[in-house]
Amino acid sequence: MQEESSKSILFEKLSRLYSEMEEAYDRTAGNIGLSCRGCPDNCCTSYFQHHTYVEWAYLWKGLRSCPNEKQREFVHRAAEYVRQSQVLLARGAKPRIMCPLNDNGLCRLYKYRVMICRMHGVPNSFVMPDGKKRAFPGCFRCQELCSHLEEAPVLDRTDSYRGLASLEMAFVGQKMKTLPRVNLTLAEMLVQGPPEI
Ligand code: SF4
Ligand code: SF4
Repeated sequence: MQEESSKSILFEKLSRLYSEMEEAYDRTAGNIGLSCRGCPDNCCTSYFQHHTYVEWAYLWKGLRSCPNEKQREFVHRAAEYVRQSQVLLARGAKPRIMCPLNDNGLCRLYKYRVMICRMHGVPNSFVMPDGKKRAFPGCFRCQELCSHLEEAPVLDRTDSYRGLASLEMAFVGQKMKTLPRVNLTLAEMLVQGPPEI
């Protein structure tokens, strides 16, 4: 079990990293003129897996800050999300189900939401540890807005990934070699309970 004090320090650092991601996102979205206001889509139905213990634990810190009844409701919704997504995946379909933390269009753990919730939307790229570059064009609305631009602004996520990887290493420590790789949807993270490190 990790010391509570060192865990708190890491969570503080993660919170700062999240703020930096948001600022970088807002700058890029502002340059493009992208806003989610009035969008006919809702990205909270996107199906994503997440890969770090530190984000998983921080999400649970957020959940635990909610009243007990709300916590039970979110976990119950998450279980239903997992059940429905497994049915769809077994049929070969990609799930598009509302995130269990979205309540009437609002994220109920906004401060604790995971990295991808903060970066989705604008064109972005990152360089992987093996040197390969990956790039994403942004959401459909962003692609429409960028279609008339000669060169669309691109958010480079490499530093954010590096920052997150370094926090993950500090969070998991020596267990990095033995713990299974995280590959969970947000709903699965809620259903499984906080990670045991
Ligand atoms: S990120 Fe794009 S698709 Fe998603 S809600 Fe915002 S504008 Fe719409
Ligand atoms: S955590 Fe929040 S922002 Fe992310 S998908 Fe769920 S409701 Fe949407």
